[in-house]
Amino acid sequence: MTSEMTETQDLAAKIAKLPKAELHLHLEGSIRPETVSLLGERRGIQISPESAAARYEYTDFLGFLDAFKWAVGYLKDPEDYALVTHRLADELLAQNVIYAEVTIAAGVMIRQGQSVEANFAAIYEVGQRYREKGLRLAWIFDATRQFGGDAAVKVATIAAKLQRDDVLAFGLGGDELSVKTANFRAAYDLARGHGLHAVAHAGEIGGPEMIREAVEMLGAERIGHGIAAIRDLRYADQLAALRIPLEICPTSNVRTGALARQLDKPSADISDHPLREIVERGVTVVLSTDDPAMFHTDLLAEYGHAIALGLTESQIVRMMEASFSYGFLPPAEKRPLIEKFRSSARELGLI
Ligand SMILES: [Zn+2]
Repeated sequence: MTSEMTETQDLAAKIAKLPKAELHLHLEGSIRPETVSLLGERRGIQISPESAAARYEYTDFLGFLDAFKWAVGYLKDPEDYALVTHRLADELLAQNVIYAEVTIAAGVMIRQGQSVEANFAAIYEVGQRYREKGLRLAWIFDATRQFGGDAAVKVATIAAKLQRDDVLAFGLGGDELSVKTANFRAAYDLARGHGLHAVAHAGEIGGPEMIREAVEMLGAERIGHGIAAIRDLRYADQLAALRIPLEICPTSNVRTGALARQLDKPSADISDHPLREIVERGVTVVLSTDDPAMFHTDLLAEYGHAIALGLTESQIVRMMEASFSYGFLPPAEKRPLIEKFRSSARELGLI
């Protein structure tokens, strides 16, 4: 074994030991095929884990959105949401994730005629139970872009009401190319006016101008993906100066075809990912999984990709700390988590 390989394994082992945070993670994208099968069973629908897994294969972004819609179709009531929250929380704990901001597709719940309040009460209750196990969960309510501005206002209104239950931010996901950013101003104004933080998916399949719009029109404080920034390095420098982090999810970018699209290539794999270039440009990055079940990944695998892409130990440690410091918890709650991370990093000789 070469010493380089040993070093890599050593770093991966230290990352596994460190307490971690994750900021870009969709509850509905965390539903593993076995869980879809179980949810189907509750409704008398036979679906084997194998056929559920087959639905999680796609070649482009719209194919992915279809699969997402299909899996979400099995979430019918609060008990279903409680089940998937449990399973996600167990997976996070198994990876030593101690803090996660989980995005909930409230816009989809409304569209399906469900009660966001009832579903969220079940989700929140599960989250509370995991606090004593050492996992702190907070929530982001996300509107679906293709449902339009009025639907987004409804999501922002409910998110504002549920702030006391750790709903910290309002966001926007879905098909970036469907509805213009300006249509979401009212929803974001409302959310921010009530003290919620603002995030948005931008520059995932859209161009760098989408990131600029999310920052300037919507007041986004963190950008979901934002890999289009590599197509406008001057704007990337601005993001660096503004300290607006990009929530980068390498496996997601490969699996949805977003990376190939941004690179203007017929296909792309992880080794083509510009994560290192973005970090070296000085842009703050927080590494995430996006939809771990749908992309067959987890947070440790994403850090493995960061190592393989050539990020240095100190770059990775800084990125890991950023996932705590750029979280939206109030400073008094955030500080002990950061301290916990730093003291483990010190013990492992990383800082
Ligand atoms: Zn996402």
